[in-house]
Amino acid sequence: MMATQPTDLHICIIGAGMGGLASALALAKRGFKNIDVYEAASGLGFVGAGIQLAPNMNRILDNLGVWEDIEKEAVDVKETSIRQGASDEELAPVDLKYIRELYSHPHMVGHRSSLAGGLYKGCKQQSNKIKFHFSTSLQSIQSFLPKPQFTVKPRNGEPIKVSCHVLLGSDGVKSITRQRMLQELGVEDKIVDTGQAAYRIMIKRSDMGHDTELRDLMNKEGVTRWIGEKRHIIAYPVSSKQIYNISTIQPDTNFAAAPDSTYTTKASKAAMLKEFEDFCPNVRRVLDLVPDGEVCEWRLRVHSPLPTWVHGSTALVGDACHPTQPHLGQGAAQAMEDAAVIAVVLSKIPNTDPGSIKKALKVYEKVRKERAETLVELAAQSGRALHLGEGKAKVERDREFERLKKEGKGKVPDRWADADVQKMIYGFDCTKVAEDRFEEVFGVV
Ligand SMILES: Cc1cc2nc3c(=O)[nH]c(=O)nc-3n(C[C@H](O)[C@H](O)[C@H](O)COP(=O)(O)OP(=O)(O)OC[C@H]3O[C@@H](n4cnc5c(N)ncnc54)[C@H](O)[C@@H]3O)c2cc1C
Repeated sequence: MMATQPTDLHICIIGAGMGGLASALALAKRGFKNIDVYEAASGLGFVGAGIQLAPNMNRILDNLGVWEDIEKEAVDVKETSIRQGASDEELAPVDLKYIRELYSHPHMVGHRSSLAGGLYKGCKQQSNKIKFHFSTSLQSIQSFLPKPQFTVKPRNGEPIKVSCHVLLGSDGVKSITRQRMLQELGVEDKIVDTGQAAYRIMIKRSDMGHDTELRDLMNKEGVTRWIGEKRHIIAYPVSSKQIYNISTIQPDTNFAAAPDSTYTTKASKAAMLKEFEDFCPNVRRVLDLVPDGEVCEWRLRVHSPLPTWVHGSTALVGDACHPTQPHLGQGAAQAMEDAAVIAVVLSKIPNTDPGSIKKALKVYEKVRKERAETLVELAAQSGRALHLGEGKAKVERDREFERLKKEGKGKVPDRWADADVQKMIYGFDCTKVAEDRFEEVFGVV
């Protein structure tokens, strides 16, 4: 189909994760009316876990008109308490009540299904513009320019060749789009094992109700982080405080021993309890409430910074180009920043030539890449600080916690709770920056 105006462009999105859903919705909201989303899974995929809804994320959700519904079930994060895993001693409390006013948006936590569901509902309201193809996988990409051409395969059907004006690869950390793009550019695709894995668990209020200490945790409007050598746990209530969400980080032993390249697996409750056996009774009791068979483990992998996120009329989005460790709670938020910026730059192209599309996507890369990669590095640093074992560095870290506890302000070694880090992350309005910088950057890329 000929595209005479930018909004006529046929845009194909691979993956309906947070980045793909947000991209589809952001583009539809800017008037694009020919959007196809291909998703390998039969539905929205595994969403049984909590997620941080930081102000930079919910500012975007608000602009897309879906925040109000998501917010209804989300829980405010008014404070965080960082504690020794073994003793439960509080290293420092950090007051986060000021965030809502300072950044005009709150920091909340929610259920992934409510976030993904909210975005999907927004997309369904644009069903004249967005078409979903579930159970359909990207298999290969034949060309990136002048028009992307690729092959998808419905689970029970024959492969289909597709040609479009813009291809967005939001196909996650194992991205085929990225693999093919790098292959074409002669660059090695280097997924990096972090040596860490994460258990993700959810416990119902009714299962915690009998235990007063655990009930206090459930009723808290805040996040608790228990830290120990090479391991930590982050926990918070979600779903109007009806579910307690727990995410752990520990050395990866199960996947490292696995013969294939699995990333997620049903895990053993006994192995999880053993991993945290020297943590305090509150932690052990809460972990023990998990029903057998409901423990899931994630292998945490990242990627070395890519030379580019754009090739021809194809761009990478989210974990496909900046997978991160979860210690700043920014992976999905950054995927949504990608989506918001892509929608701005494509809506501003002066014509529909492949050359203009490429330049616009380069503006996206210019606005987003350095920032996303800075946050990936910061998340890794924060993980290192949280996981310190005995030694000088830990003594210095714990001195910082002591100072913080005494003075009520100062540097927070748990970086997501640090006011200066928050200013850098939450104070950045990516949509506005893309709008403001488009003309200047488009002229020079
Ligand atoms: C333990 C843990 C805790 C986290 N906590 C937070 C948090 O609190 N806050 C936060 O912002 N982020 C958090 N994250 C990170 C966040 O989950 C990811 O960064 C985010 O989901 C990335 O979104 P995405 O759309 O790029 O990729 P994904 O969510 O991985 O989506 C990719 C999609 O593409 C599909 N796909 C893959 N290959 C193909 C193919 N060939 N064809 C078609 N479809 C395909 C997949 O099925 C999937 O649906 C956490 C991550 C982990 C592991």
